[in-house]
Amino acid sequence: MSEPRIGFRSERVGGWGMAVGGPAQVARPTTPQEVAAALALVAQRHGSLAIRGAGCSYGDASINSAGHLLDTSAMDRILRFDRVRGLITVEPGVTFRDLWRRVIASGWWPPVVPGTMAVSLGGAAAFNIHGKNNFAVGSFGEHVESFVLQAANGDILRCSRQEHADVFHAAIGGFGMLGCFLELTLRLKRVYAGRLRVWSIPTRDLAHSLQLLEDLKGEADYLVGWHDLHATGAALGRGQLHRADQLEPGEDPDGERLLDPQLQDVPARLFGVVPKGWLWPGMWLASHCGGTPLVNWARFQAGFREAKRSPYLQTHGAFHFLLDYVPRWHWMTKPGGLIQFQPFVPQPEGERVLTRLIERCQQAGMVPYLGVLKRHRPDPFLMTHAVDGYSLAMDFAVSTNPARRAALWKLCQEMAEVVLAAGGRFYYAKDAVLPASSFARIHGAVAVATFRDLKRRLDPQHVLQTDLSRRLGVCDA
Ligand SMILES: Cc1cc2nc3c(=O)[nH]c(=O)nc-3n(C[C@H](O)[C@H](O)[C@H](O)COP(=O)(O)OP(=O)(O)OC[C@H]3O[C@@H](n4cnc5c(N)ncnc54)[C@H](O)[C@@H]3O)c2cc1C
Repeated sequence: MSEPRIGFRSERVGGWGMAVGGPAQVARPTTPQEVAAALALVAQRHGSLAIRGAGCSYGDASINSAGHLLDTSAMDRILRFDRVRGLITVEPGVTFRDLWRRVIASGWWPPVVPGTMAVSLGGAAAFNIHGKNNFAVGSFGEHVESFVLQAANGDILRCSRQEHADVFHAAIGGFGMLGCFLELTLRLKRVYAGRLRVWSIPTRDLAHSLQLLEDLKGEADYLVGWHDLHATGAALGRGQLHRADQLEPGEDPDGERLLDPQLQDVPARLFGVVPKGWLWPGMWLASHCGGTPLVNWARFQAGFREAKRSPYLQTHGAFHFLLDYVPRWHWMTKPGGLIQFQPFVPQPEGERVLTRLIERCQQAGMVPYLGVLKRHRPDPFLMTHAVDGYSLAMDFAVSTNPARRAALWKLCQEMAEVVLAAGGRFYYAKDAVLPASSFARIHGAVAVATFRDLKRRLDPQHVLQTDLSRRLGVCDA
């Protein structure tokens, strides 16, 4: 039998936020053999290779400027689905869209989902993603039963909590540095209805939001806060908290019918007329003509109307992936693109640190157009970003003016100091700004040494690299 071959071709590859990117030699394997062939070929060329899923990381996490890139999106087969036990085995390029559409009619739902269904399961495992239920059920990796990993040294390892447990706990959250996931087995979550019960709760300031997260975290299934980061003074950090709970069997008379994947989608038109694909130019206009504070104010006011009709029933798809129904909304930040700064802060320091960050943005005149608050809990993975505390995802539009762009990077690095000094962490999937010194400060010397040992064992030539891993000095021992 002939050896599998794989070709690379030149393309420009960017982060989802469009603010960073560069040229790369890209290959799209469709089989595990082609993954192995690509790794071997790049090692033979003494080159570097980044693994890429759906490319939804905001910054440079799945970019390898001037190097090679392995795009796994064509490895998208669902291999096995045990609809009785709720176990599913997939190739890494399968997306959350593919996953929930396949399992919901059998009464299952992914246990942890990100804010867009475009993310691949390989990418979700590599960053050990979190959902709006992180405080309750933990991170994505906590629901992975096992995976098969193609290491750069040629080894193929089946990893679980029992087998190669060290690699299991390091490759989940190991941002593609230890090998390429070839398949993943995930335990799903039982759902009895196609809808969730949702409450909207307006919050007068940040302290109010944080208190609500503490009060509700023992009883709610999902909690997420939206924040108007333009509000100042006594209203600083005001916003709207969404709580969603799963329904018990029989609670929603229409619940079973709505387990039909076709009925989970929200309409493609606003008010039945305006195609949602037309919304981003309007958003672009608002964001480029100084309308962002007004949009945030209007959204805050709309929260009161939503609160009046709470609780209401909403499909899983609409609750989790609302932004997906406004196609290309992030194009509103063109041409400079966007970055996200998502600090994770321990609970006792939460109010002080997050208040300071919001105030600092306002003083600098660079206020995020979007702020999203979540409650988290620690997880058992080596390169964890989780804390027993809060994260505030802050989205900044990036200017094309080099001086303003540099000023934004400086502001974020300054804010990172405040977070790190308080024992906080960062989520690299959203990062574009952290300096190399942050890596050891986030994880501690022992975890970093363990990770580098595993990297040397599984990838002795340091083939697997990304712009992010070089920026953070991940492989520099
Ligand atoms: C609109 C939006 C909302 C989001 N919301 C959330 C959220 O709520 N919670 C959250 O946690 N994240 C969220 N994210 C971030 C996203 O979940 C992560 O960036 C995720 O890693 C993206 O996966 P991907 O398939 O796009 O992979 P990519 O971005 O292409 O790659 C991500 C990482 O995975 C590695 N990788 C990819 N495939 C493999 C593989 N087969 N084997 C080994 N490594 C691999 C890459 O090397 C890279 O380090 C959001 C992103 C967007 C765009």
